[in-house]
Amino acid sequence: MMKVMIAGGAAAAGAPKVSEKDAREVGETLEKFLGVMGGTEAPPSHLTVTEHEAKGIDFCDDCGKPTNLGYFELQDNRTGRRIGMSYLVVHAMAEHGKTTYQFGDRQLPIHDFQYVKNLLKG
Ligand SMILES: [Zn+2]
Repeated sequence: MMKVMIAGGAAAAGAPKVSEKDAREVGETLEKFLGVMGGTEAPPSHLTVTEHEAKGIDFCDDCGKPTNLGYFELQDNRTGRRIGMSYLVVHAMAEHGKTTYQFGDRQLPIHDFQYVKNLLKG
């Protein structure tokens, strides 16, 4: 039997590859809405941002910048779907263009990157 190669088939099985540029754009956009990270802008009307600041901080392995250990939730007001993300993720994306981040001794991936990217666009 002949094997048929399907372009992108292998990649589709895992997490889709995220470009550094995309990661930075999403991270920088999120930072603007997050008071804990110094943001001052209101999110677009279809989004509700709820921050959960933690008392602890962690220092970025790459640049040493202190980042709050808390997290925030993004809610799509049109569907009610909520997604939680840590501030460390936003730092890793905005400052380093990374789609994984260090949490303690664990290397964690950013979940639902494409969903968040589309959500920010409206
Ligand atoms: Zn850093």
